[in-house]
Amino acid sequence: MKIKYERPVIKKMNAGIMDKFGMPSQYDPVKEIDGVEVKQLIHQYGSPLFVLSEKQIRRNYQSAVRSFSTRYPKVQFAWSYKTNYINAVCKIFHQEGSWAEVVSGFEYLKALNNGVPGHQIIFNGPDKKAEDLRLAITNQSLIHIDHFNELDLIIVICEELNQKAKIAIRVNMDTGIYPIWDRFGFNYENGQAWTAINKVVKASNLELIGLHCHIGTFMLSCSAYEIATQKLCKLAMRCKTELQNTIHYLDLGGGFPSKNNLKGALTGTDSIPTIEEFAETITSTLLSFGFDTNEMPLLILESGRALIDDAGYLIGSVIANKRLSDGRRATIVDFGINLLFTSNWYDHQISAAQEYSQYTEETVLFGPLCMNIDVVRYSINLPLLETGDQLVVHKVGAYNMTQWMQFINMRPAVVLIDTKSSPHLIRKPETLDYLELMEELPTYLNT
Ligand SMILES: *Cc1c(COP(=O)(O)O)cnc(C)c1O
Repeated sequence: MKIKYERPVIKKMNAGIMDKFGMPSQYDPVKEIDGVEVKQLIHQYGSPLFVLSEKQIRRNYQSAVRSFSTRYPKVQFAWSYKTNYINAVCKIFHQEGSWAEVVSGFEYLKALNNGVPGHQIIFNGPDKKAEDLRLAITNQSLIHIDHFNELDLIIVICEELNQKAKIAIRVNMDTGIYPIWDRFGFNYENGQAWTAINKVVKASNLELIGLHCHIGTFMLSCSAYEIATQKLCKLAMRCKTELQNTIHYLDLGGGFPSKNNLKGALTGTDSIPTIEEFAETITSTLLSFGFDTNEMPLLILESGRALIDDAGYLIGSVIANKRLSDGRRATIVDFGINLLFTSNWYDHQISAAQEYSQYTEETVLFGPLCMNIDVVRYSINLPLLETGDQLVVHKVGAYNMTQWMQFINMRPAVVLIDTKSSPHLIRKPETLDYLELMEELPTYLNT
C-alpha cells in the first residue's frame, strides 16, 4: 500500500492535561469487534451503530459471580435494567442466572415480559405508582421501600388486596464518600431507617425480609462498601435481637466502576479497584460480622455498569474536517452527545477503524447536531481521519442505550455479536413512522 503524503506542520500545544503516561495517542486501529469487521458492520447496518459483545457480557457476569461466590456461600446478582434494558441484553443476564432489578413500572413490566418470575424481581426507586405496587405485591416481588409515603401506600394496598408484601428497606448512610447519597431511602445515622424497620415489622401485612443500600455509582473506594456492609449487618442483627425478625438478604446495590477514564482523572484506569477487591471487602465483612452459620443472609448485588460497559462499542463515520479560528483541527462525526450521554463523565477511548500513518494531531471531535454543546471530545490525539473513515468508541455499554436522546437525529441500530461471531440486529434503527406513531394531528390542522 502506498503511504499517503501528509504535509509537515508546526502546531501550538494546547492539548490539556497528561496522564501519568504522557499524552495518550498511539492507540492501534481497531478493525474488528469479536471477529466481525467494523466496515462490514457499518455496510450492513448503517452508521452510526451500537455493537454489543455477548462474549464479553457473559465473561463479565461469570467473573463477577465467581469473585463473590468463591468467597461467600449465598450470592445472587440482579441485573440493573436502567443500565441497559434492551431485551436481548436482559435475556443474556437472565440466562446466566441473574434476577431483575427495576426502578419503574415500565421496567417492571419489561422484566415480566422477559420471563423473570415475580419473586425474582427487585423493585427499587422513589416512584412506584399504586398500580405498579398492586402488580408487584400480587407477584410476590421484592419491594424496596424508598420513603414513608410509599410505606403507607403499600399498607393500604395490602389491606385492599388482602395480601402480604415482601419488603426491604432502602437505607442511606455515611460511608465516608461525600456528598452522601441521602435522597434515596431512609437514613441510618439519624435513626430514620430504624423507625421505618419498626413500622414495617409492626404492619401485619408486611414481611420484612431484606435490607438494601446503593451507596453511589462509579465508586472508587472499597472501604465505603466495608462501612455499608457493616451498617446493614448491624441493622439486621438488631432486627433479630430486638424485633425477633430475621433478615433473609442484604442487598449491597451496584456502583462498582467500569474501566473507563473519568474526565480530568490524573491516574490511569489501573488504579480502579477490581470487582475481586470489592468482593473481598464485602464478603470478609459479612463473614466476620458474627451471624450464625445457618443464618447467613443471602448477599444480593445489583451491579450495572461494571458488567456491561466494556461489552459495548459505538462505531461511526467522519462527516468532515475543518480548522477552527485558532487553527485547531476539528473533525465532525456522525454520533454526538445524543448517543453518548456518558461522554459527560468519561474520556472514552476512541480508535480509528483503519490503518493510518504515525502522525497524529490534537483534534476537537464534534458530533453532528446543530447545537453548540455537541462535543464528543474537546481534545483528543487522533490520526488524520478523512470523510468516510470510521471510528470505534470503546466501553459504551452502560447507560448510553437507555439515556440516548432523539434530538435532531433518530436513534441508530444496535447489533449483538454472538459467541460464535455472528451479528444479530437487536434493535432496529428508528424510522420516521416510528417517531410519529404517537403523534396526533387535530383535524382542524389537517388541511
Ligand atoms: C442504577 C442502580 C444500580 C446500578 O448501578 P451501577 O452503578 O451501574 O452498578 C443498582 N441499584 C440501584 C438501586 C440503582 O438505582
